[in-house]
Amino acid sequence: MKTLIIAEHNQHALKAATLVTLGAAQQLGQPIDLLIAGHEISELSQDAATIAGIDRVLTWDHAMLAIPFSETLAPVIANLRSQYSHILLASSSFGKDLAPRIAALCGVNALSDVIEIISPNQYKRPIYAGNAIATVKNSASCQILTIRTSAFSAPTHEPTASLAQVHALSVELPHSPVRFVKQTLSESSRPELNSAEIIVSGGRAVGSEANFSVIYDLADKLGAAVGASRAAVDAGYIANDLQVGQTGQVVAPSLYLAVGISGAIQHLAGMKDSKVIVAINNDPEAPIFSVADYGLVADLFDAIPAMTARL
Ligand code: FAD
Repeated sequence: MKTLIIAEHNQHALKAATLVTLGAAQQLGQPIDLLIAGHEISELSQDAATIAGIDRVLTWDHAMLAIPFSETLAPVIANLRSQYSHILLASSSFGKDLAPRIAALCGVNALSDVIEIISPNQYKRPIYAGNAIATVKNSASCQILTIRTSAFSAPTHEPTASLAQVHALSVELPHSPVRFVKQTLSESSRPELNSAEIIVSGGRAVGSEANFSVIYDLADKLGAAVGASRAAVDAGYIANDLQVGQTGQVVAPSLYLAVGISGAIQHLAGMKDSKVIVAINNDPEAPIFSVADYGLVADLFDAIPAMTARL
């Protein structure tokens, strides 16, 4: 039996989430193929072929895949199912959109947010916003999983001398009712939230969009990504793609600084697996302190500029 990983990339490089998914796939102990769908991806595919642990790189190159849609990808991936016992995707917006479509076309269920692989058909995944962990046994003939990347690590992938075989798929582009209109990207020189080693997150207490400069200044000193609670996002202080939590991004950096964040369970669901948590809050009873490794009871407008100046 074999595993197929669906790659996420920017046409030039694989995303960190795909490498972590490879780390999870290796725990299944079976040959691994990587599917790269995109446009002008020959260099990317050759690079991917040097990654240790990948047996075959399948490529599907088409101009319409420069911005790939799940509606287009799902039927083609579902047609490959007879070759694979497992199809793995990262638990990103891309993976969470695509996995259920593939599963529906295969007539099986998709299992989302796998945090532990116990055996080739038994997994652990969080339920109730991370308040309980379910052990799930899946009897589907083709197991379609999304991998919570904060729970696994990428393999150390020294390029291998023996290149994986690169095999170009020859498939017709399925008819899709979806059409690419435009893409609006927010440009940032800061690290991406879901792969950052350090995150500084601000909450409602930051008080305004302008005040968030306090958080940005500290983040820039630390080379960190910036995150936020939902209250800060809902108040319009910061863009919603930077929300951490149950309905935002799930992160597990080496260091997470929660600034003026109370620690509601929905926020904790997105960051409590961080290696070291530092909480700065002026209320000593704030629930965030119950998960924090280090806590500072202080006004953020005194403490954060002082920390930034010291750094
Ligand atoms: P608050 O709870 O208002 O906390 C502000 C904190 O700042 C307080 O602890 C206060 O003591 C402290 N403070 C005030 N002034 C200062 C100061 N000057 N210096 C230092 N500290 C100060 N929330 C998320 O974050 N992510 C999610 O994904 C998410 N998903 C949700 C999904 C659902 C279905 C629901 C119902 C809720 C969700 N929420 C989520 C909202 C969540 O319940 C909380 O409302 C939210 O996390 C609160 O944000 P906060 O901690 O910034 O604000």
